[in-house]
Amino acid sequence: MILHINRNMNTLNEIQNFEGKYPKQLWYLFFSEMWERFSFYGMRGMLTFFMVHQLFMKEDVANLQYGATQAFVYAFTFIGGLFADKILGFRKSLFWGGILMIIGSVILSINPQQFFFLGISFTIIGTGFFKPNISTMVGALYKSNDNRRDAGFSLFYSGINIGALLGGYACVAIGKSYSWNLAFGLAAIVMAISLLTFVFTQKSLGPIGLSPFAAKDKQGKSTNGNKITGTKKWYEYLTYLGSLAIIPVIMIMVAKTQYTDWFMYVIGPATLLYVFYEMTKVTVPERKKLGAAMVFIIFSVLFWAFFEQSGGSLSLFAANNLNSSLLGFTVDPNGVNNAANSLFVIAFAAIFGLIWIGLAKRKMEPNTVVKFGLGFLFLSLAFFIFYYTRFFANEHGITSLDIFTIAYLVITFGELCLSPIGLSIMTKLAPKRLQGVMMGMWFLASAYGQYVAGILGAGMTVPGDDATAIEKLISYTQGYKQLSIYALITGIALIAISPVVKKLMQEVK
Ligand code: GLN
Repeated sequence: MILHINRNMNTLNEIQNFEGKYPKQLWYLFFSEMWERFSFYGMRGMLTFFMVHQLFMKEDVANLQYGATQAFVYAFTFIGGLFADKILGFRKSLFWGGILMIIGSVILSINPQQFFFLGISFTIIGTGFFKPNISTMVGALYKSNDNRRDAGFSLFYSGINIGALLGGYACVAIGKSYSWNLAFGLAAIVMAISLLTFVFTQKSLGPIGLSPFAAKDKQGKSTNGNKITGTKKWYEYLTYLGSLAIIPVIMIMVAKTQYTDWFMYVIGPATLLYVFYEMTKVTVPERKKLGAAMVFIIFSVLFWAFFEQSGGSLSLFAANNLNSSLLGFTVDPNGVNNAANSLFVIAFAAIFGLIWIGLAKRKMEPNTVVKFGLGFLFLSLAFFIFYYTRFFANEHGITSLDIFTIAYLVITFGELCLSPIGLSIMTKLAPKRLQGVMMGMWFLASAYGQYVAGILGAGMTVPGDDATAIEKLISYTQGYKQLSIYALITGIALIAISPVVKKLMQEVK
């Protein structure tokens, strides 16, 4: 028995000195995250439709409400990251988050009409504890100078999208044609699979993700597993209690969307202040790295603000202005709008990862700042193609789904240069005790991105209910042209400031 335990307790060195392209623990985290994203995107995919058809909300109200849930979900990743760093450690945070997500979906499956906001609020807090911390643990599988890390995150990112694609498709389809209880129930079951995957494989993570309070011996080995003892355990209980106590507050805030605006005005500046405060407590080289991380985070807000047109203006564009022919097959253009990105990520994520490894071997791998810059250049090209669809339109304002899909391919290339790389760079730039906080900041940027995306999308709509398809085509594509120009400028600006950011990053690539 003792031998058995020893064999399973990997040391950090054993984990990080893995051979081959990927550490085996990456696969465990991959599957756990894949199922979590199934549940998350499954639920997210049902929200708007459910609010309109089951809760009888007006479409614009449902859209705002949807935006509010997304903003809250990503805003709470900061809180989840913070409590992981300070009290729980990544593993307990992830476990607690998973439990809350399961409870949220079980509540919804019992009576989604009556308990809608309660269930959603559990999911919001749960995701906050789960999502940033699993990503941080991926980073911990690598030594700081291991150039296989970006490839690992790329692979992990394809897991995210496999889950997103399956869940996004399955849940709403089941809800529409069978029962909403069953659809939310499926999200619960799948989340339980995610959590069980983690629970049964977490031993292989050795010391990674243990609570900062877990007692360690002189060699840094944990002497009491992940158990928190003494008065410190009250911090743990208070964290659990506090996260439950805040649920009624979230319910109120999500239900009234003007509170979301206030919340967004407060949380960003508050977290910035907090990070600045933490920056005063670290060494100068660490401070510089945190400064570089903040540059990436701020640019990512812009990226997501453009990218997230997919759920808003691009889905309306797909509904109003696209034909149904993809490579000669008849398909639903909204289905393509929802699925193309995930499919392209799944197809290309690992390839991008291998390209980075291949380039690194030849000492030609672009630095992260340049990768981000490339991300914006791809984004710019993609929006130029969205704009260009107007030249393929017929006299009714209906244009080519094929060209639209090519734009999605290009936007996905941009995402692959930025999103998995962003996760990776957070784990490289944050000092150990701020890993969770910085990953939370990274996702908080997504919350702001979603928020700004809604505002940008609303600015593209044609006023009045009786606009023709041609007018809509002109208005939306004009908006896309502007986004293309802004993305181009941002990409160039980023590449221009790359020497400064590189200096801040020091030895980190
Ligand atoms: N689609 C990715 C995920 O779900 C990225 C989300 C984001 O950072 N906005 O993890």
